[in-house]
Amino acid sequence: MALNGFVEFFQKGKTFRPKKRFSPGTLRYSLHKQAQASLNSGINLRAVVKLPPGEEMNDWIAVHVVDFFNRINLIYGTVAEYCIETSCPTMSGGPKFEYLWADGNKYKKPTPLPAPQYVLLLMDWIETQINNETLFPVSTDVPFPKTFLALCRKILTRLFRVFVHVYIHHFDRIVAIGAEPHVNTCYKHFYYFVTEFDLVGARELEPLQEMTSRICHDPTPPPESNSQSAGS
Ligand SMILES: [Zn+2]
Repeated sequence: MALNGFVEFFQKGKTFRPKKRFSPGTLRYSLHKQAQASLNSGINLRAVVKLPPGEEMNDWIAVHVVDFFNRINLIYGTVAEYCIETSCPTMSGGPKFEYLWADGNKYKKPTPLPAPQYVLLLMDWIETQINNETLFPVSTDVPFPKTFLALCRKILTRLFRVFVHVYIHHFDRIVAIGAEPHVNTCYKHFYYFVTEFDLVGARELEPLQEMTSRICHDPTPPPESNSQSAGS
């Protein structure tokens, strides 16, 4: 029953916002397909995140940012009806971590908000960034802006907070619908990706340190399969 609910949820693509898609025939579409195809179960996710030889790092990162946005959006969708102001009056990850929202626009100062509102603003904000073709070029003819990596860091850092909240406050729901393996796989993939390219700071990763050490055990791939990695 619970599992059916989960499968149905994913089959219907019942997200609370449409998926961002890549246009077929473009380089990023094929990179996206390549990244997807390598996600079969049992695959070493630590190896899969490495930049394929000959590919441009910004393209690789752009594709992953959009994919993670779609997948984490879907994961949050599975708990959204339980994530309400009364149950989650703050955007927290346990008693030690609370996130304040600021967007330099409506919220100029870091502001405490109920989790559902925070996540809604966060997802809206990301959607706006990745749909802005100046910040996030769709065509490979358009160069990436100088701010691109910094923007991706910010997007991924914020997306990580959704994992924090879902794992710490809604894990029972995830288990109840049988989504735990799926969420764990997505988390591992995300974790290996952001650490490979140094896109989320160690301090931000701290709230899920325990989870990370429990599930992220994919072995380091042998050096000969290493492609060039950023920041090293
Ligand atoms: Zn919540």
